[in-house]
Amino acid sequence: MAAEFDLVVIGSGPGGYVAAIRASQLGLKVAIVERENLGGICLNWGCIPTKALLKSGEKFESLSHLKEYGLSASGASFDFDAIIQRSRGVAATMNKGVAYLMKKNKIEVIEGSATLEKGAAAPKVVVALKAGGTRAIEAKTVMLAVGARARALPQIGLEADGDKIWAYRDALAPKKLPKTFVVIGSGAIGIEFASFYRALGAEVTVVEAVDRIMPVEDEEVSKAAQKSFEKRGIKFKVGAKVTKVSKDSKGVKVAVEVNGNAETLEAEVCISAVGITANTDGIGLEALGVELDRGHIKTDSHCQTNVKGLYAIGDCAGAPWLAHKASHEGIHAAEHIAAYKTPNVHSPIAGCTYAQPQVASVGITEQGARAEKREVKIGRFPFRVNGKAVAAGEIDGFVKVIFDAQTGALIGAHMIGHEVTEMIQGYVTAITMEATEEDIHGIVYPHPTMSEAMHEAALDAYGRVIHI
Ligand SMILES: Cc1cc2nc3c(=O)[nH]c(=O)nc-3n(C[C@H](O)[C@H](O)[C@H](O)COP(=O)(O)OP(=O)(O)OC[C@H]3O[C@@H](n4cnc5c(N)ncnc54)[C@H](O)[C@@H]3O)c2cc1C
Repeated sequence: MAAEFDLVVIGSGPGGYVAAIRASQLGLKVAIVERENLGGICLNWGCIPTKALLKSGEKFESLSHLKEYGLSASGASFDFDAIIQRSRGVAATMNKGVAYLMKKNKIEVIEGSATLEKGAAAPKVVVALKAGGTRAIEAKTVMLAVGARARALPQIGLEADGDKIWAYRDALAPKKLPKTFVVIGSGAIGIEFASFYRALGAEVTVVEAVDRIMPVEDEEVSKAAQKSFEKRGIKFKVGAKVTKVSKDSKGVKVAVEVNGNAETLEAEVCISAVGITANTDGIGLEALGVELDRGHIKTDSHCQTNVKGLYAIGDCAGAPWLAHKASHEGIHAAEHIAAYKTPNVHSPIAGCTYAQPQVASVGITEQGARAEKREVKIGRFPFRVNGKAVAAGEIDGFVKVIFDAQTGALIGAHMIGHEVTEMIQGYVTAITMEATEEDIHGIVYPHPTMSEAMHEAALDAYGRVIHI
């Protein structure tokens, strides 16, 4: 059978749909298979709807600070269903946007669930169509962009039931607002849900197995984040190993062990945010001999698997489990398939948490640099002495930068505070362009902006800070 398509992409998340568009731009005949919603987890059940919820929470919480700005209003309240509906509406808008982009780029969308079998140039894609029946497709190349789902830990009773134990989908579209939560896991997803539900007045306790929250972040940021969240009333149990999650008529009981002592936390609802499991089971990878590493597909630097004609990108191909990493890999893989000469740019992947306060980071942490025995120069600048932050009443947080002492290269940046997720891109650009302290010191930052703190932190690393 002659190949019907140059490329079939399986999965239409930010990895798959972006790869499909790029491949089509490069002249390939492309199809995309999706079993659920165009846009994947990111647009429908991840990045975007969480930010919509967080924005509602942030706006509501800001009403209790009106006095600080010389304002007052009475009778502030919220309609929980309307908040959820707004978030679902935002997701639906994004989903429609992807459908439009598929049409515009002449990408055939095939609705159904795909499995792989042995094929000619690449594995054959067999789709169990949503409309009924199956469709077998031969393509010159196949790209797996099948993403991941919430991880369950059935051995300790941590399995979402949509009622008392929630995974992210339940937490994004609940039928009612519980008064008390235990959130298990203090990564970005756990912290964002804790931040949102706390903003609406719920009692929230976050349990973290490691001895500090947000363990991938720089230690100083973890510490500052915990302090800020505690000020907002979120409680934390760190160094707490969850041993059992059980349900009764009232809610959930989460048994934890802290320093060898057993404790039980009770709440109406437990949100499980303990990581993800790649969607690599049940699609025929074993029979094809596709190499996996702890459930994730192993790939080379061009996102090729060990099977001829088969690529894998995004969450299903390993960490970091972030939308922009998935899209970046999608573009790179599409360009490799089309034999387009991709410029040799190595951009680091920033991580962002959109809680109040926000946290954003890129590159190495201070403890990571010390573990590698790198000689470093570190600078810090607090927002409390930044004019724009003072004017805006957003003085919590700071910027911390790490330079390689030998070369002067910027190798890490860590920020906590208002809208730092918008600012981190400045440092991503700097690291990508291999900027040194001299380059950054020479940049003119607009005034007044919170980004001036990024300049000052870099100056501070070399004893040149102006405003402290
Ligand atoms: C609550 C939450 C918040 C998040 N917030 C952020 C954030 O702020 N920033 C960020 O960068 N990342 C965030 N993420 C992570 C981000 O959503 C993922 O990294 C991203 O979606 C991965 O993209 P992907 O294309 O690899 O896969 P996905 O987006 O998971 O898409 C995979 C698609 O493949 C489809 N599929 C799977 N198997 C098959 C099959 N056999 N046949 C057909 N279709 C199939 C699925 O239905 C799905 O639509 C968040 C995740 C969650 C859960």
